[in-house]
Amino acid sequence: MTDSAPRHEERPTWPAVWKGWRRRCPSCGNGPLLRGYLTVREACPVCREELHHHRADDGPAYLTILIVGHLMAPLLLMVFTAFRPEPLILFTIFAVGCISLSLYLLPRLKGVIVALQWSRYMHGFSRAA
Ligand SMILES: [Zn+2]
Repeated sequence: MTDSAPRHEERPTWPAVWKGWRRRCPSCGNGPLLRGYLTVREACPVCREELHHHRADDGPAYLTILIVGHLMAPLLLMVFTAFRPEPLILFTIFAVGCISLSLYLLPRLKGVIVALQWSRYMHGFSRAA
């Protein structure tokens, strides 16, 4: 390490991202990251790591749309060409599927984004160190 290197501890990315996917604090992995469905806590209730520095913004929603769209659009085409279901049945199944998958992915991807920012000392996370 040279003198110009940042003077903070290493934060391995993938363990932090996995903790974020589980909606846990990226630092200790025990405390809950979110309060309610999507609100990031000010700090971890277990290890007191400050979490309010995150700037997830539209990232989790963007990733959710990206994943759900790329899964459901080809599936819709495959189901339509293979089975030719009634339009209302097709719509109902895919509407419920898209909404369910989106609601599942959104808080997990928010955890991933916050954990990624934490592990890379992005935004205010560098000042907290
Ligand atoms: Zn913690």
